[in-house]
Amino acid sequence: MRLRLGILLPLVVLLALSASLLAAQVDPRWKPNDPERPMPPAIDPGTVGTQDVPGLPPSDAIVLFDGKDLSQWLGEDDRAPRWKVQDGYMEVAPDSGYIHTRRAFGDCQLHVEFNEPKIPTTDTQDAGNSGIFLMGLYEVQVLERWTYSEKIYADGIAGAVYSEFPPQVNASRPAGIWQMYDIIFHRPRFSKNGRVQLPARLTVLYNGVLVQDNVELSGPTVQAKRPPYKQGPDALPLSLQDHHDPVRYRNIWIRELTEEH
Ligand code: MG
Repeated sequence: MRLRLGILLPLVVLLALSASLLAAQVDPRWKPNDPERPMPPAIDPGTVGTQDVPGLPPSDAIVLFDGKDLSQWLGEDDRAPRWKVQDGYMEVAPDSGYIHTRRAFGDCQLHVEFNEPKIPTTDTQDAGNSGIFLMGLYEVQVLERWTYSEKIYADGIAGAVYSEFPPQVNASRPAGIWQMYDIIFHRPRFSKNGRVQLPARLTVLYNGVLVQDNVELSGPTVQAKRPPYKQGPDALPLSLQDHHDPVRYRNIWIRELTEEH
């Protein structure tokens, strides 16, 4: 019996911890409709953009790109990024390298708008390929998906968690039209011995449509592989991929999430 408890107790604690991180629980400190319960902070929710005008971020977001400059970003080897900034958007300078944020992020809500170039190509992975790498490790694919719909593998299209999860539906718009991702990301949790306690999780709305519903990632993104996790920092810079195509981005903002939410 003692032996069984010795095994069971840590398991119960681990399960309780997992549950608390997986989903918010009703807080027992407050009665239903309790007038003493503190109100959440009020924010200005911003505005939704149009094809011609980008939206405005919520007032509590960290603005990563407002159309003016790349001051929040660094290029490879932490040098100044060489991507083009023009007319309210940034554009991948092909072969100049990925860019990443100066700041590091863990759990977050992220909004990104992007616009695919109209470039004829027979290579499906070169059709406006870019990507959003949460913590610089986990890629939500950016790709021109309209023209080449029959020619590509499902876990490599726009809205996919690359090499892991195809999107639930293809919610793409054609090249030349602004599109958007709204992403909710939870970083992986590791135990003290470096084992994965909880995998990273992603929810993705693509043009307002749910395409990834709290999926559990098997590890960092690598083409044609699914490598295991390696324990690392709780926060790392967000990066955008240079895959040799002049994809455009605008209106990028992020909200850091705390474990209480
Ligand atoms: Mg990509």
